[in-house]
Amino acid sequence: MFDPYRVRDDFPIFKRRIRGKPIIYLDSTATSQKPIQVIEALSKFYMESYANIHRGLYDLSQEASEMYEEAHVKVAKFINADGMEEVVFVRNTTEAINLVAYSWALNSLKQGDEILLTIMEHHSNIVPWQLIAKRKNVKLKYVDIDGDGRLKIQEFEEKISSKTRLITVTHVSNVLGTINDIRRIGKLAHEVNAFFLVDGAQSVPHMPVNVKDIDCDFLAFSGHKMLAPTGIGVLYAKKDILSEMDPFMGGGDMISDVDLYESKWARLPWKFEAGTSSIADGVALGVAVDYLMKLGMENIYQYEREITEYALNNLLAIDGVEVYGPKDIEARSGILSFNVRNINHHDVANYLSENYNICIRSGHHCALPLMKRLGLKGTARASFYIYNVREDVDILLEAISSLVGSS
Ligand code: PMP
Repeated sequence: MFDPYRVRDDFPIFKRRIRGKPIIYLDSTATSQKPIQVIEALSKFYMESYANIHRGLYDLSQEASEMYEEAHVKVAKFINADGMEEVVFVRNTTEAINLVAYSWALNSLKQGDEILLTIMEHHSNIVPWQLIAKRKNVKLKYVDIDGDGRLKIQEFEEKISSKTRLITVTHVSNVLGTINDIRRIGKLAHEVNAFFLVDGAQSVPHMPVNVKDIDCDFLAFSGHKMLAPTGIGVLYAKKDILSEMDPFMGGGDMISDVDLYESKWARLPWKFEAGTSSIADGVALGVAVDYLMKLGMENIYQYEREITEYALNNLLAIDGVEVYGPKDIEARSGILSFNVRNINHHDVANYLSENYNICIRSGHHCALPLMKRLGLKGTARASFYIYNVREDVDILLEAISSLVGSS
């Protein structure tokens, strides 16, 4: 049985008190807290095994190299990739998407080609494509959402053409919480031989994601949203595609030979990991993956759904609160964006923080096109993860009820 109270005990931050009260952390969509296992692995690595990798012949360097490589193997297993050759460590989702934009798209797309995106993308899955579109004279097309905050799937069929070269979609909306049917969208992409990129920033930490099952060409996600340190993220890509792609950055560690005018690349995935990597953070990502796998991604998904359903139903029952995104729990993950009538979203977040130590996000959530589509300046957003318990939700509900009552 999944026991969030036991999980919570692994997170030292929850022992902290602010203004004498516990912290109600409901902002895991922005970044997750870290368990002691990850924190200790990070400091143990620095205390006992630290050295640069792939360079030294001495024991420490070999040990560090093995640990860093092992972390790639763990991530590969976690998403069911075909080995560590398909797993490139980057800084975060943003860098992973930019890697695809600059290494793949810049070299593969030509004038008149089309990229199909959706209106619910995070800026990190919009802006890189705008930059590429300008340089390559490529057209961007967007799929809209319906009144319930779900993608209009039939629009993919209408907007896909023989010119579509890439479909890039978030698996889960960081604003609406909508879980998109990426298996179906991927099929549509491959029917016209388009490449398919999935932004997994909000799915990989929260549910089983199997790259074979969703048949994506690229999957981007961030370690810091899944218990690992900041500064480490992942680009998964099919081996054949990575083999064909030029490197993103040139420098040390990504070559097998360098002459004055030409170089040969290192084997995968190192061809894409130029310079000294975030070695310790990479090792700690492997430990975070161990932690998540021990809990079981299906258990995590089921638990988050349970706590979200409880929060959603109770939030909807408060007069004066509007919740965005699907009302059907099957279609959404543990992200609840809402507004309180006549109160600015930042004022809501301030009130919750000052009076209850509740940490929620407020603003446009790096999804301005979606905000404009919804006609909103911003929302308040509460989000749940493995360490949140019903009492957290109860305090959130009490705080919002008292705010509504006082307004
Ligand atoms: N995509 C989505 C859906 C996100 O929610 C986020 C982070 N909020 C990102 C991309 C960007 O992640 P990062 O800042 O770690 O690069």
